[in-house]
Amino acid sequence: MTRPRFQRILLKLSGEVLMGPGQFGIDPDTVTRVAEEILAIREAGYQLCIVVGGGNIFRGLAAAAKGFDRASADYMGMLATVMNALAVQNALEQLGVETRVQSAIPMASVCEPFIRRRAERHLEKGRVVIFAAGVGSPFFTTDSGAALRAAEMKCDALFKGTSVDGVYDADPKKVPDAKRYETVSFNTVLAKDLKVMDASAVALCRDNDIPIVVFNIREQGNLARVLAGEGTATIVRNGD
Ligand code: UDP
Repeated sequence: MTRPRFQRILLKLSGEVLMGPGQFGIDPDTVTRVAEEILAIREAGYQLCIVVGGGNIFRGLAAAAKGFDRASADYMGMLATVMNALAVQNALEQLGVETRVQSAIPMASVCEPFIRRRAERHLEKGRVVIFAAGVGSPFFTTDSGAALRAAEMKCDALFKGTSVDGVYDADPKKVPDAKRYETVSFNTVLAKDLKVMDASAVALCRDNDIPIVVFNIREQGNLARVLAGEGTATIVRNGD
């Protein structure tokens, strides 16, 4: 099956991806490797927005389960995403890729605030724009932040880099003959509660007709391959 070609994409990097082989935090070698993947697609001429997660450092829900006030915990989680954004920015700039970080929570000494028109200008100038702090509100996740920014920035697709090579009809780690979808509809993902992104993020992509491409970012060179329509991935989109 030939896949559609995209020009402007939003790449969602979960905190887990930046953790590398560790159990917590940021692994500099892994961040450099991810930055090299991004450099390759910048050189291929794609316009790129990135949304980073924070789960490698702090997850609001996990802290709330231990009795922490949920809203405060979520703000801490959002601050964690800013740390990750700076790590990705640093790795990209060491490779000579121009970047800007924009945070949904204004932090004037650290990075720019999120300003859509300004982000648009950065993209036109060939810069990679890294969006931090999700949507800027508690009770959300960076998946929702990714879907929101993809819609605002008129991205052609949302690329979700994970540690599996697509969307399966059951958990491939538990069910050996789980089947991988080549394409699957947003409504099937929601009805079967397939683990792609949060339901609110999936619904936002569905309503704005932004395909979600789920692929394994741990595999070297895979981002460029999947963008070129090769490699293994699942596309979630409107349809049957
Ligand atoms: N978060 C939030 N609002 C947002 C985005 C993130 O409150 O718009 C908080 C939330 O506590 C979340 C944490 O930041 O657990 C880290 O983000 P997420 O879990 O989405 O990161 P990922 O799973 O992608 O690493």
